[in-house]
Amino acid sequence: MSSDEKSLDPEDWGAFRALAHEALDKAIDTLATVRQRPAWQAPPQRPDASALPLGPTPLAQVCRAVEQDVLPYGVGNTHPRFFGWVHGAGTAEGIIAAIYTAALNANVGGREHAAVHVEREVLGWFKQLVGFPQSASGILLSGTSMATMIALAVARHGRGDPASLRIYTSDQAHISVAKAVRVVGLPPTCLVKVASDDRLRMDAGALRAAIDADTSAGRSPLAVVATAGTALTGAIDPLATIAELCEASNLWLHVDAAIGIGLRLHPALRDRLAGIERADSVAFDAHKWLHVPYDVGCVLIRDAQAHHAAFREGASYLQRATRGTGGGAPWFCDAGPELSRGFRALKVWMVLRTHGLDALGAQVLENCRQAEHLARRVAACEHTALAAPTDLAITTFRCTTGGSEADDDALNEEIVLRVQESGVAVPSSGRVRGRAVIRVNITNHRTTRADVDRLFDAVLEHRAALVAAR
Ligand SMILES: *Cc1c(COP(=O)(O)O)cnc(C)c1O
Repeated sequence: MSSDEKSLDPEDWGAFRALAHEALDKAIDTLATVRQRPAWQAPPQRPDASALPLGPTPLAQVCRAVEQDVLPYGVGNTHPRFFGWVHGAGTAEGIIAAIYTAALNANVGGREHAAVHVEREVLGWFKQLVGFPQSASGILLSGTSMATMIALAVARHGRGDPASLRIYTSDQAHISVAKAVRVVGLPPTCLVKVASDDRLRMDAGALRAAIDADTSAGRSPLAVVATAGTALTGAIDPLATIAELCEASNLWLHVDAAIGIGLRLHPALRDRLAGIERADSVAFDAHKWLHVPYDVGCVLIRDAQAHHAAFREGASYLQRATRGTGGGAPWFCDAGPELSRGFRALKVWMVLRTHGLDALGAQVLENCRQAEHLARRVAACEHTALAAPTDLAITTFRCTTGGSEADDDALNEEIVLRVQESGVAVPSSGRVRGRAVIRVNITNHRTTRADVDRLFDAVLEHRAALVAAR
């Protein structure tokens, strides 16, 4: 082999193997000892403009840099007291999945290879979970934001004058719905925000009135995006009623079940999403309550032909064959905007197979109980008040002082920051009906009731200190 035919492979596989084993140990340690570390700590800053790394650096040194400057400074979502936003906690076998996935280095845009079949198997499981027929189609994506974008692209494909189309969602819907509307080329006026009721669920009466008003005015109602578990409070829109309305008016029903899909894993919780099986499309995340490591979400589309019609393009260099490497049709590149796409399915397949859905469902139920436990503590305490019903496993509450609402808003926001900076726990903040709340989201299989208590105690301590300093 001449020197200019050298590959990028290690010259000494034995030395590489030793280093890789060390790196694996470090990765496992990071997860195994997470409880002993702060839930969050500020990361070291990196130079804004470091020089291009033109020459080589020994791999051992590169690994040390990652272990020192990156691994200890996660956002905290692997920690048992991370309750912010909606993040999944990941699982240990995700580390193994990442190694296999990197070794295979599969491009799952199409063709005939094992990764395609694993993804199809995972999609088949997801169809059963949602209650869709196996004839539906689907694709794994980076998350629900992309999944909803794909669903709306299919819903709007081949439909007339964009400006007259109307898509309805509740005033509690996730920002990804508005983003999807923009990305599929519709003006913002196409998105109609329907009022939510006192439990922050879409008001079906208001939805019907909005559809009727638009129809009378000559506009073209296209779709409803219902939410099965809002990000702020976990509210579940009345899916069955909305499904009926959509069937009667011939509207596309898309359900954002980013978090709520977790409820489908437990027989005692499953029916809370009754009606989801009647949707035209469903989007959800595996990286949230299913605990698959980032990033992976899914869209399922009932009408597979409509799905592929919205994305299929042909070219001679991408000819489908009935035999050989170019077989395997239909290709996943016909189901979304990406041609090259990674093997997200393996980590899903491994996590679901390793634990089994029953065990994952038991975790979901436990998280719901922990959230209800917190809600009881909030309700029983004279210094705190619940801000919304505890749906899914999200408890939102407010510390009160008897002072002005605006002062209490500032107080609650400051408490959240102080608890985060203390490293004890990570809650997040938000506004329910305009008032600042402390938001505790429990989609974490490492969380115990004692962790929830520790968070609440920390909140009360910071409240007391801030009130005393006034
Ligand atoms: C997280 C979330 C999304 C967006 O999902 P990503 O995976 O972050 O793209 C959409 N809707 C709801 C209700 C969510 O909680």
